[in-house]
Amino acid sequence: MKKTYDILIIGSGIGGLVSALILAKEGLKVCVLEKNNQYGGNLQTFSRDKLIFDTGVHYLGGLSKGQNLHQFFSYLEIMDDLELQKMNENGYDKITFGDDEIEYPHAQGYDNFVEQLSNYFPEEIENLEDYCEEIQRVCNYFPRYNLIGKDSYSEEILHLNTKRFIESITQNKKLQSVLLGSNFLYAGDSENIPFYVHALTVNSYIQSAYKCVKGGSQISKLLIRKLREYGAEVHKHSEVADIIFNENNVLSSVKTKSGKEFFAKQFISNIEIRSLTRLIGEERLKKSFLNRVLSWEPVSSCFSVYLVLKPQTIPNFNYNIYHYSSEESVWNAYRYDEKIVARNLYAFFHAFKTSS
Ligand SMILES: Cc1cc2nc3c(=O)[nH]c(=O)nc-3n(C[C@H](O)[C@H](O)[C@H](O)COP(=O)(O)OP(=O)(O)OC[C@H]3O[C@@H](n4cnc5c(N)ncnc54)[C@H](O)[C@@H]3O)c2cc1C
Repeated sequence: MKKTYDILIIGSGIGGLVSALILAKEGLKVCVLEKNNQYGGNLQTFSRDKLIFDTGVHYLGGLSKGQNLHQFFSYLEIMDDLELQKMNENGYDKITFGDDEIEYPHAQGYDNFVEQLSNYFPEEIENLEDYCEEIQRVCNYFPRYNLIGKDSYSEEILHLNTKRFIESITQNKKLQSVLLGSNFLYAGDSENIPFYVHALTVNSYIQSAYKCVKGGSQISKLLIRKLREYGAEVHKHSEVADIIFNENNVLSSVKTKSGKEFFAKQFISNIEIRSLTRLIGEERLKKSFLNRVLSWEPVSSCFSVYLVLKPQTIPNFNYNIYHYSSEESVWNAYRYDEKIVARNLYAFFHAFKTSS
């Protein structure tokens, strides 16, 4: 007899694994299919000479007791097993420009955030306070982010533009660039990104900022362990290559590249949306929806270099550095210019422990 899961999830990124665990905890029969050898998507790590390197997630926000990610991870029963290192309280991110030797800090805690930046912008204290207040106000419009089970989102908040907001907060060009300094986290496009994306991102880290000591993959490993405890199935080397609809035009199963078929009552996709539209078949989708998806510009990518320095070369920084060739280049950090090599550099220092 064919096995039919309640839920089948395509992709084992954090989105797929968390969805799977929530549903498995509710007693549903869940199966996750992952194409790669390692689970976790952007949580994947790799190791060289027993040192662990992150690929995507380098630091996490909102992980102190009472904060949102702490509550999520506690509900998912992985919080107590995570090995974390709190980042520098007075500057988890430091923003630098050209030859300016000052490292402008983004500090943890809203009062501290204002205090640390006011050392460099003493006449901007009120504006900095307004900035912090506005970030928190906007975040309060997102019930799910604050773990409140309400669905309504304010249209006004969704359309507020990051660039215009920052310009409305202060006329000081340098401070504007400092406040936007970590915009690499949302692909650097402050002109087109709505302000709520900026607010939700920086709010987490201002609340608290942590590095994973054994790399981000400890999160996926813990989630998978829990999933198995709750009876879910997780398969790697299982790339979904075909989505199959039954005679009633209802999605009934998926087929992996190796030809194995998995049946389920409901399906969740954790994969990039254009790849999904190809799998479903464009002809099955509403033209208006398809055109909207296809009209989105692909997001920018970045080039990462991993360096292992000789012991005692430099101190192990407990903060990240976002370096820009000039104040202006913060605004269009995502635009690649072939003539300028490495106009902007971002340095993330790992909380190292050997993998043995
Ligand atoms: C360079 C970089 C740095 C980042 N730094 C941070 C950071 O410091 N802090 C932070 O909080 N966030 C960071 N992020 C963002 C964060 O990593 C991502 O938002 C998050 O991990 C995305 O998870 P996801 O579940 O949406 O998708 P993904 O992680 O992309 O997972 C999708 C999964 O689906 C699988 N898949 C794809 N197609 C198929 C198929 N056909 N069949 C089966 N499986 C399939 C993929 O292999 C992958 O495992 C960073 C991202 C990048 C790229």
